[in-house]
Amino acid sequence: MLFVIPLTPLGKGGKEGESSPRNSQTIMEKERELLLGQYLTLYEFCTCTKTYQKYAEKISPFPKNPESRIAIADLNTQIIDPIIDRFGRDNFHLTYGFCSSDLKRYLARKDPLTGQKNGRVTPSLDQHMAMEKNRNGKYYCDRLGAACDFFIEDVGSDTIIDWILEQKLPFDSLYFYGEKRPLHISYGPQHKRAIWAFTPTGQPTRQGVRHWLEKI
Ligand SMILES: [Zn+2]
Repeated sequence: MLFVIPLTPLGKGGKEGESSPRNSQTIMEKERELLLGQYLTLYEFCTCTKTYQKYAEKISPFPKNPESRIAIADLNTQIIDPIIDRFGRDNFHLTYGFCSSDLKRYLARKDPLTGQKNGRVTPSLDQHMAMEKNRNGKYYCDRLGAACDFFIEDVGSDTIIDWILEQKLPFDSLYFYGEKRPLHISYGPQHKRAIWAFTPTGQPTRQGVRHWLEKI
């Protein structure tokens, strides 16, 4: 399915108000090239989840609020670009980027074969919906900003956190799920510098992250 949204190419010298073709195929092709920072495209950021890939024809993956694009671009330039500069583009794997309101619905659904939910969503807290608003004009997540989950091939998530703290990257929240699991990181106006781990039942805990908190 093609989803038509107005385009202002980021990082490619596009000018606001420039006339753009209204042909949706052309626009989808441009989405694939629209850079958010130095490396990732908006297309990759919005379509990387397994759930999107499974239901792609039913999901509009891109942000509707232009503020979301700005927040996602800021996350890329402030956090993701320096991480890729250090660890390499080929080693960086995004597992979850932007969550559109469509994607949220499908993540919350159960897979009919396994009976398991497609994904875990806490839209009011996790910043994956960036600056999207609900039908009443309220932000889904008052924390604002934007978030993503990623891993680096052959590098433990604990080692990546060590490096992020050494570099003093201006993150808002970091979630550590284990050395061999993707990290969640966000960038936003609250600049909370929060780091959380999780118990086996998914409750946030400071256990295992105190040594990092002391370095902030
Ligand atoms: Zn996340």
